[in-house]
Amino acid sequence: MRIGAFSDVHSNLEALTAVSHFLKQEGTQQLLCLGDVVGYGPDPEACIKLLQTVRARIVAGNHDWGVAGRTPIHQFNHLARFALQWTRKHLTLAHRLFLKNLPLTFDLGPLHLVHAAPSAPNRWDYIFTVEDALSEMGAFTTDICLIGHTHIPLFIEQISNKPPREITDSSFPLRPNARYLINLGSVGQPRDGDPRSCCALIDLNEHRFSFHRIPYCITETKKKLRAVGLPEPLADRLTYGR
Ligand code: ZN
Repeated sequence: MRIGAFSDVHSNLEALTAVSHFLKQEGTQQLLCLGDVVGYGPDPEACIKLLQTVRARIVAGNHDWGVAGRTPIHQFNHLARFALQWTRKHLTLAHRLFLKNLPLTFDLGPLHLVHAAPSAPNRWDYIFTVEDALSEMGAFTTDICLIGHTHIPLFIEQISNKPPREITDSSFPLRPNARYLINLGSVGQPRDGDPRSCCALIDLNEHRFSFHRIPYCITETKKKLRAVGLPEPLADRLTYGR
């Protein structure tokens, strides 16, 4: 089975469209979204609809639950809060309920899906480094845990009982004697200095993971973001990928 996986779409329709085209071309049979479908960007409704159309399986992100009222809005910084309140106003009740009913985690074969740290999914902790991941490797029972939340890709491998290490290659084998914690970066608002969208292919037959960067029309997203009155820094950061 060939799986397409990505995270943190953040209402960026141009980015999500580019990523879903790429993953379709690659012959994926299932799409997985690691949360934060909405927040920050100008197209929450269209992004939810696209993910529903392609039957993506989705876990809840803090922005999804923030919009739905399940995560308190005071936990967000002022830019995120402004965008959350804007998003709430621009979603139908049905779509707010859709976000509210997203699960915090689920397992699919060897994969465990969760937006933030697996040890406490609704505390929304960040995993930026191998050190952050040390205590998290025991928090899931599957071979592979997929996460998002930081908008910065990170691939961690733990072979047998050795200390976990970071993998810097963008494509690597999924070894039978190893476990993995993989942060998929972000589709709609990357923060690692590369503005292109992030997504991954997981081939469960070939036992291989590959990470991909997909360009999209950033100018168009920025134009829409300004037109609906979302704050200028949210447009700027798309250009810089920060
Ligand atoms: Zn996010």
